[in-house]
Amino acid sequence: MLKNEHRVLVPPHGSTRPKKAALIIKSNLVTRTMLRVASVGIAVSALSLFSSRTVHAEDGKKAFNPKSFVSFPIKKITNLSPNTKAYDIALPEKDSEMGCGVASFIMVKNAAGDARPYTPTTLNDQKGSFELVVKAYPGGKVSEYLHSLKVGDSIEVKGPINKLKYEVGMKKKIAMIAGGTGITPMLQVIQEILKNPADKTQINLVFANNAEEDILLKARIDELAAKHKDQFKVTYVLSQPSASWKGEKGFVRREILEKCGFPHAGNDVLVLVCGPPPMMAAISGDKTKDYKQGMVEGLLKELHFTEDMVYKF
Ligand SMILES: Cc1cc2nc3c(=O)[nH]c(=O)nc-3n(C[C@H](O)[C@H](O)[C@H](O)COP(=O)(O)OP(=O)(O)OC[C@H]3O[C@@H](n4cnc5c(N)ncnc54)[C@H](O)[C@@H]3O)c2cc1C
Repeated sequence: MLKNEHRVLVPPHGSTRPKKAALIIKSNLVTRTMLRVASVGIAVSALSLFSSRTVHAEDGKKAFNPKSFVSFPIKKITNLSPNTKAYDIALPEKDSEMGCGVASFIMVKNAAGDARPYTPTTLNDQKGSFELVVKAYPGGKVSEYLHSLKVGDSIEVKGPINKLKYEVGMKKKIAMIAGGTGITPMLQVIQEILKNPADKTQINLVFANNAEEDILLKARIDELAAKHKDQFKVTYVLSQPSASWKGEKGFVRREILEKCGFPHAGNDVLVLVCGPPPMMAAISGDKTKDYKQGMVEGLLKELHFTEDMVYKF
Protein backbone atom coordinates (compact mmCIF):
# COMPACT_ATOMS: atom_id res chain seq x y z
CA MET A 1 0.00 0.00 0.00
CA LEU A 2 1.26 3.47 -0.85
CA LYS A 3 2.07 5.71 2.10
CA ASN A 4 -0.63 8.20 1.14
CA GLU A 5 -3.48 5.80 0.68
CA HIS A 6 -6.34 6.50 3.10
CA ARG A 7 -9.42 4.41 3.54
CA VAL A 8 -10.77 6.12 6.64
CA LEU A 9 -13.89 8.27 6.64
CA VAL A 10 -13.33 11.93 7.41
CA PRO A 11 -14.40 12.56 11.03
CA PRO A 12 -17.82 14.10 11.54
CA HIS A 13 -18.08 17.84 11.96
CA GLY A 14 -19.67 17.67 15.40
CA SER A 15 -18.36 19.75 18.28
CA THR A 16 -19.06 19.75 22.02
CA ARG A 17 -18.78 23.53 22.40
CA PRO A 18 -22.52 24.32 22.67
CA LYS A 19 -22.79 21.82 25.58
CA LYS A 20 -19.94 23.61 27.39
CA ALA A 21 -21.76 26.92 26.93
CA ALA A 22 -24.93 25.45 28.46
CA LEU A 23 -22.94 24.31 31.51
CA ILE A 24 -21.54 27.82 31.96
CA ILE A 25 -25.09 29.19 31.88
CA LYS A 26 -26.23 26.63 34.53
CA SER A 27 -23.34 27.33 36.90
CA ASN A 28 -24.02 31.05 36.70
CA LEU A 29 -27.58 30.62 38.02
CA VAL A 30 -26.64 29.23 41.45
CA THR A 31 -27.56 32.19 43.78
CA ARG A 32 -29.55 35.43 43.53
CA THR A 33 -26.39 37.42 44.17
CA MET A 34 -24.89 35.59 41.35
CA LEU A 35 -27.77 36.62 39.09
CA ARG A 36 -25.99 39.76 37.94
CA VAL A 37 -22.92 37.73 37.36
CA ALA A 38 -25.19 35.21 35.74
CA SER A 39 -26.57 37.79 33.36
CA VAL A 40 -23.03 38.73 32.47
CA GLY A 41 -22.27 35.01 32.34
CA ILE A 42 -25.23 34.43 30.10
CA ALA A 43 -24.11 37.22 27.83
CA VAL A 44 -20.61 35.78 27.76
CA SER A 45 -22.05 32.30 27.28
CA ALA A 46 -24.31 33.55 24.55
CA LEU A 47 -21.28 35.07 22.89
CA SER A 48 -19.37 31.85 23.39
CA LEU A 49 -22.32 29.87 22.01
CA PHE A 50 -22.56 32.30 19.14
CA SER A 51 -18.88 31.91 18.43
CA SER A 52 -19.27 28.12 18.63
CA ARG A 53 -22.06 28.46 16.15
CA THR A 54 -19.85 30.56 13.94
CA VAL A 55 -17.31 27.76 14.04
CA HIS A 56 -20.15 25.42 13.25
CA ALA A 57 -21.20 27.65 10.41
CA GLU A 58 -17.63 27.42 9.17
CA ASP A 59 -17.80 23.66 9.55
CA GLY A 60 -21.25 23.76 8.01
CA LYS A 61 -19.67 25.20 4.88
CA LYS A 62 -18.38 21.71 4.35
CA ALA A 63 -21.60 20.53 2.83
CA PHE A 64 -21.04 16.77 2.67
CA ASN A 65 -21.57 14.54 5.67
CA PRO A 66 -19.62 11.28 5.89
CA LYS A 67 -22.27 9.75 8.17
CA SER A 68 -25.51 10.53 6.40
CA PHE A 69 -26.89 11.35 2.99
CA VAL A 70 -27.54 15.02 2.26
CA SER A 71 -29.70 16.20 -0.61
CA PHE A 72 -28.44 18.75 -3.19
CA PRO A 73 -30.44 20.20 -6.12
CA ILE A 74 -29.23 19.86 -9.70
CA LYS A 75 -28.61 23.26 -11.34
CA LYS A 76 -27.60 22.14 -14.81
CA ILE A 77 -27.19 18.93 -16.82
CA THR A 78 -24.86 18.73 -19.82
CA ASN A 79 -24.63 15.83 -22.25
CA LEU A 80 -20.94 14.99 -22.55
CA SER A 81 -21.27 11.92 -24.77
CA PRO A 82 -24.08 9.63 -25.96
CA ASN A 83 -24.14 7.88 -22.56
CA THR A 84 -22.53 10.33 -20.14
CA LYS A 85 -23.85 13.47 -18.46
CA ALA A 86 -22.25 16.15 -16.30
CA TYR A 87 -24.30 17.37 -13.33
CA ASP A 88 -23.73 20.84 -11.95
CA ILE A 89 -25.08 20.49 -8.41
CA ALA A 90 -25.78 23.32 -5.97
CA LEU A 91 -24.29 23.44 -2.48
CA PRO A 92 -26.45 25.14 0.20
CA GLU A 93 -24.63 28.50 0.32
CA LYS A 94 -22.62 30.50 -2.20
CA ASP A 95 -19.53 29.96 -0.05
CA SER A 96 -20.24 26.29 0.81
CA GLU A 97 -17.66 23.74 -0.21
CA MET A 98 -17.91 19.98 -0.58
CA GLY A 99 -15.41 19.13 2.16
CA CYS A 100 -13.44 16.78 -0.12
CA GLY A 101 -9.69 16.26 -0.28
CA VAL A 102 -7.82 15.02 -3.36
CA ALA A 103 -8.38 12.31 -4.31
CA SER A 104 -11.72 11.29 -2.84
CA PHE A 105 -15.11 10.03 -3.88
CA ILE A 106 -18.65 10.21 -2.54
CA MET A 107 -21.57 7.80 -2.38
CA VAL A 108 -24.73 8.65 -4.33
CA LYS A 109 -27.99 6.78 -3.88
CA ASN A 110 -31.08 6.18 -5.95
CA ALA A 111 -34.69 6.38 -4.75
CA ALA A 112 -34.61 2.71 -3.66
CA GLY A 113 -31.53 3.32 -1.49
CA ASP A 114 -28.89 1.58 -3.66
CA ALA A 115 -25.66 3.56 -3.36
CA ARG A 116 -22.63 3.73 -5.70
CA PRO A 117 -19.36 5.66 -5.61
CA TYR A 118 -18.85 8.71 -7.86
CA THR A 119 -15.92 11.10 -8.09
CA PRO A 120 -16.47 14.87 -8.12
CA THR A 121 -14.68 16.49 -11.07
CA THR A 122 -14.44 19.87 -9.37
CA LEU A 123 -12.15 20.66 -6.48
CA ASN A 124 -13.04 21.71 -2.99
CA ASP A 125 -12.01 25.33 -3.70
CA GLN A 126 -15.01 25.68 -5.96
CA LYS A 127 -17.62 27.30 -3.75
CA GLY A 128 -21.39 26.97 -4.08
CA SER A 129 -21.51 24.00 -6.44
CA PHE A 130 -19.79 20.81 -7.54
CA GLU A 131 -19.80 18.59 -10.59
CA LEU A 132 -20.36 14.89 -11.12
CA VAL A 133 -19.82 13.06 -14.41
CA VAL A 134 -21.98 9.96 -14.72
CA LYS A 135 -22.01 7.31 -17.41
CA ALA A 136 -25.28 5.36 -17.76
CA TYR A 137 -25.00 1.58 -17.88
CA PRO A 138 -27.94 -0.33 -19.40
CA GLY A 139 -29.98 -1.58 -16.43
CA GLY A 140 -27.66 0.26 -14.06
CA LYS A 141 -29.55 0.91 -10.83
CA VAL A 142 -27.95 4.18 -9.84
CA SER A 143 -26.52 5.48 -13.13
CA GLU A 144 -29.85 5.11 -14.98
CA TYR A 145 -31.66 6.68 -12.04
CA LEU A 146 -29.28 9.66 -12.17
CA HIS A 147 -29.77 9.95 -15.92
CA SER A 148 -33.55 10.10 -15.35
CA LEU A 149 -33.24 13.19 -13.12
CA LYS A 150 -34.02 16.72 -14.34
CA VAL A 151 -32.77 20.16 -13.36
CA GLY A 152 -34.35 20.99 -9.97
CA ASP A 153 -34.38 17.35 -8.82
CA SER A 154 -32.02 16.46 -6.00
CA ILE A 155 -29.07 14.12 -5.67
CA GLU A 156 -28.42 12.37 -2.34
CA VAL A 157 -24.77 12.37 -1.38
CA LYS A 158 -22.77 10.87 1.51
CA GLY A 159 -19.04 11.27 2.02
CA PRO A 160 -16.33 12.02 1.24
CA ILE A 161 -14.25 8.88 1.31
CA ASN A 162 -10.56 9.56 0.81
CA LYS A 163 -8.47 7.48 -1.54
CA LEU A 164 -4.92 8.38 -2.43
CA LYS A 165 -3.98 11.54 -0.53
CA TYR A 166 -2.17 13.79 -2.98
CA GLU A 167 0.67 15.82 -1.48
CA VAL A 168 2.89 18.33 -3.27
CA GLY A 169 6.25 16.75 -4.05
CA MET A 170 5.15 13.19 -3.26
CA LYS A 171 6.63 12.22 -6.66
CA LYS A 172 8.38 14.22 -9.37
CA LYS A 173 6.25 12.68 -12.11
CA ILE A 174 2.65 11.53 -12.04
CA ALA A 175 1.64 9.43 -15.01
CA MET A 176 -1.97 8.47 -15.60
CA ILE A 177 -3.76 5.89 -17.71
CA ALA A 178 -7.52 6.44 -17.74
CA GLY A 179 -10.38 4.86 -19.64
CA GLY A 180 -13.86 6.42 -19.99
CA THR A 181 -15.19 7.73 -16.65
CA GLY A 182 -11.85 6.64 -15.16
CA ILE A 183 -10.84 10.22 -16.02
CA THR A 184 -12.77 11.55 -12.99
CA PRO A 185 -10.21 10.88 -10.22
CA MET A 186 -7.40 11.89 -12.62
CA LEU A 187 -9.05 15.28 -13.11
CA GLN A 188 -9.04 15.87 -9.36
CA VAL A 189 -5.28 15.22 -9.21
CA ILE A 190 -4.51 17.17 -12.42
CA GLN A 191 -6.46 20.23 -11.26
CA GLU A 192 -4.95 20.05 -7.76
CA ILE A 193 -1.41 20.07 -9.20
CA LEU A 194 -1.95 22.70 -11.86
CA LYS A 195 -3.74 25.20 -9.63
CA ASN A 196 -0.63 25.47 -7.46
CA PRO A 197 2.26 27.37 -9.12
CA ALA A 198 4.64 25.99 -6.49
CA ASP A 199 3.83 22.42 -7.56
CA LYS A 200 6.19 21.45 -10.36
CA THR A 201 5.04 17.82 -10.69
CA GLN A 202 5.12 16.61 -14.29
CA ILE A 203 1.87 15.02 -15.47
CA ASN A 204 1.53 12.63 -18.40
CA LEU A 205 -2.05 11.50 -19.09
CA VAL A 206 -2.98 8.73 -21.52
CA PHE A 207 -6.75 8.80 -21.98
CA ALA A 208 -8.34 5.80 -23.74
CA ASN A 209 -11.83 5.75 -25.23
CA ASN A 210 -13.79 4.08 -28.02
CA ALA A 211 -14.55 6.97 -30.37
CA GLU A 212 -14.09 10.75 -30.54
CA GLU A 213 -17.58 11.36 -29.16
CA ASP A 214 -16.73 9.33 -26.04
CA ILE A 215 -13.84 11.52 -24.92
CA LEU A 216 -15.20 13.13 -21.77
CA LEU A 217 -14.35 16.73 -20.86
CA LYS A 218 -11.86 16.99 -23.75
CA ALA A 219 -12.15 20.78 -24.01
CA ARG A 220 -11.34 21.18 -20.32
CA ILE A 221 -8.39 18.79 -20.50
CA ASP A 222 -7.02 20.43 -23.67
CA GLU A 223 -7.31 23.87 -22.12
CA LEU A 224 -5.30 22.75 -19.08
CA ALA A 225 -2.69 21.10 -21.32
CA ALA A 226 -2.39 24.25 -23.46
CA LYS A 227 -2.08 26.47 -20.39
CA HIS A 228 0.54 24.23 -18.74
CA LYS A 229 2.48 23.03 -21.79
CA ASP A 230 5.68 22.39 -19.86
CA GLN A 231 3.99 20.43 -17.11
CA PHE A 232 0.98 18.53 -18.45
CA LYS A 233 0.87 16.35 -21.55
CA VAL A 234 -2.20 14.43 -22.75
CA THR A 235 -2.41 11.65 -25.35
CA TYR A 236 -5.79 10.39 -26.54
CA VAL A 237 -6.09 6.77 -27.68
CA LEU A 238 -9.20 5.57 -29.53
CA SER A 239 -10.11 1.94 -30.16
CA GLN A 240 -12.79 2.74 -32.77
CA PRO A 241 -11.80 6.11 -34.25
CA SER A 242 -13.33 7.73 -37.30
CA ALA A 243 -11.23 7.81 -40.50
CA SER A 244 -10.28 11.42 -39.79
CA TRP A 245 -8.78 10.72 -36.33
CA LYS A 246 -5.15 11.80 -36.21
CA GLY A 247 -4.36 10.62 -32.69
CA GLU A 248 -3.33 7.20 -31.40
CA LYS A 249 -5.41 4.19 -32.42
CA GLY A 250 -6.14 0.79 -30.87
CA PHE A 251 -5.65 -0.09 -27.21
CA VAL A 252 -3.05 1.45 -24.91
CA ARG A 253 0.21 -0.40 -25.59
CA ARG A 254 3.96 -0.16 -25.12
CA GLU A 255 4.74 1.83 -28.31
CA ILE A 256 2.14 4.46 -27.41
CA LEU A 257 3.63 4.93 -23.93
CA GLU A 258 7.13 5.13 -25.39
CA LYS A 259 6.05 7.62 -28.03
CA CYS A 260 4.17 9.95 -25.69
CA GLY A 261 7.01 10.42 -23.22
CA PHE A 262 5.40 8.29 -20.51
CA PRO A 263 7.99 8.16 -17.72
CA HIS A 264 10.15 5.09 -17.17
CA ALA A 265 9.69 3.06 -13.99
CA GLY A 266 11.53 4.64 -11.07
CA ASN A 267 11.09 5.88 -7.53
CA ASP A 268 10.27 9.39 -8.74
CA VAL A 269 7.18 8.18 -10.65
CA LEU A 270 3.66 7.31 -9.60
CA VAL A 271 1.30 5.84 -12.19
CA LEU A 272 -2.42 6.25 -11.52
CA VAL A 273 -4.74 3.84 -13.33
CA CYS A 274 -8.54 3.93 -13.55
CA GLY A 275 -10.83 2.40 -16.12
CA PRO A 276 -13.16 -0.47 -16.93
CA PRO A 277 -12.10 -3.94 -15.68
CA PRO A 278 -10.68 -5.21 -19.02
CA MET A 279 -8.50 -2.13 -19.30
CA MET A 280 -7.30 -2.46 -15.71
CA ALA A 281 -6.47 -6.12 -16.34
CA ALA A 282 -4.43 -5.26 -19.43
CA ILE A 283 -2.63 -2.22 -18.01
CA SER A 284 -2.00 -2.81 -14.32
CA GLY A 285 -3.95 -5.86 -13.18
CA ASP A 286 -7.20 -5.16 -11.35
CA LYS A 287 -7.58 -4.60 -7.63
CA THR A 288 -8.25 -7.64 -5.46
CA LYS A 289 -11.80 -8.77 -4.63
CA ASP A 290 -11.53 -7.03 -1.25
CA TYR A 291 -10.49 -3.76 -3.01
CA LYS A 292 -6.81 -3.99 -2.08
CA GLN A 293 -4.27 -2.78 -4.66
CA GLY A 294 -2.99 -6.27 -5.49
CA MET A 295 0.03 -7.03 -7.65
CA VAL A 296 1.07 -4.93 -10.62
CA GLU A 297 0.39 -7.00 -13.74
CA GLY A 298 -0.04 -6.40 -17.45
CA LEU A 299 1.70 -3.66 -19.39
CA LEU A 300 3.02 -1.80 -16.35
CA LYS A 301 4.62 -4.97 -15.02
CA GLU A 302 6.26 -5.52 -18.41
CA LEU A 303 7.64 -2.00 -18.12
CA HIS A 304 9.09 -2.80 -14.67
CA PHE A 305 6.67 -0.74 -12.62
CA THR A 306 6.32 -2.16 -9.10
CA GLU A 307 3.59 -1.94 -6.45
CA ASP A 308 5.04 1.21 -4.86
CA MET A 309 4.94 3.01 -8.23
CA VAL A 310 1.33 2.25 -9.20
CA TYR A 311 -2.01 3.24 -7.71
CA LYS A 312 -5.24 1.67 -9.00
CA PHE A 313 -8.32 3.81 -8.28
C1 LIG B 1 -14.20 4.73 -6.42
C2 LIG B 1 -15.15 4.75 -7.62
C3 LIG B 1 -15.45 5.96 -8.23
C4 LIG B 1 -16.33 6.00 -9.31
N1 LIG B 1 -16.59 7.19 -9.92
C5 LIG B 1 -17.43 7.22 -10.99
C6 LIG B 1 -17.71 8.47 -11.67
O1 LIG B 1 -17.19 9.54 -11.32
N2 LIG B 1 -18.56 8.42 -12.73
C7 LIG B 1 -19.16 7.26 -13.14
O2 LIG B 1 -19.94 7.29 -14.11
N3 LIG B 1 -18.92 6.09 -12.52
C8 LIG B 1 -18.11 6.05 -11.45
N4 LIG B 1 -17.89 4.85 -10.81
C9 LIG B 1 -18.72 3.68 -11.17
C10 LIG B 1 -20.05 3.77 -10.40
O3 LIG B 1 -19.80 3.70 -9.02
C11 LIG B 1 -21.04 2.64 -10.71
O4 LIG B 1 -20.38 1.42 -10.61
C12 LIG B 1 -21.66 2.76 -12.10
O5 LIG B 1 -22.35 4.01 -12.22
C13 LIG B 1 -22.67 1.64 -12.32
O6 LIG B 1 -23.60 1.62 -11.29
P1 LIG B 1 -25.12 1.21 -11.55
O7 LIG B 1 -25.82 1.13 -10.22
O8 LIG B 1 -25.73 2.08 -12.56
O9 LIG B 1 -24.96 -0.23 -12.20
P2 LIG B 1 -25.30 -1.64 -11.50
O10 LIG B 1 -26.77 -1.73 -11.26
O11 LIG B 1 -24.39 -1.80 -10.32
O12 LIG B 1 -24.84 -2.62 -12.64
C14 LIG B 1 -25.64 -2.85 -13.80
C15 LIG B 1 -24.79 -3.38 -14.93
O13 LIG B 1 -24.02 -2.29 -15.45
C16 LIG B 1 -22.77 -2.76 -15.91
N5 LIG B 1 -21.70 -2.03 -15.22
C17 LIG B 1 -21.77 -1.44 -14.00
N6 LIG B 1 -20.61 -0.85 -13.70
C18 LIG B 1 -19.78 -1.06 -14.74
C19 LIG B 1 -18.44 -0.67 -15.03
N7 LIG B 1 -17.70 0.10 -14.16
N8 LIG B 1 -17.91 -1.06 -16.21
C20 LIG B 1 -18.63 -1.78 -17.09
N9 LIG B 1 -19.91 -2.19 -16.87
C21 LIG B 1 -20.48 -1.83 -15.72
C22 LIG B 1 -22.70 -4.23 -15.61
O14 LIG B 1 -23.07 -4.93 -16.76
C23 LIG B 1 -23.75 -4.41 -14.54
O15 LIG B 1 -24.26 -5.70 -14.55
C24 LIG B 1 -16.96 4.79 -9.76
C25 LIG B 1 -16.65 3.59 -9.14
C26 LIG B 1 -15.75 3.55 -8.10
C27 LIG B 1 -15.42 2.21 -7.47
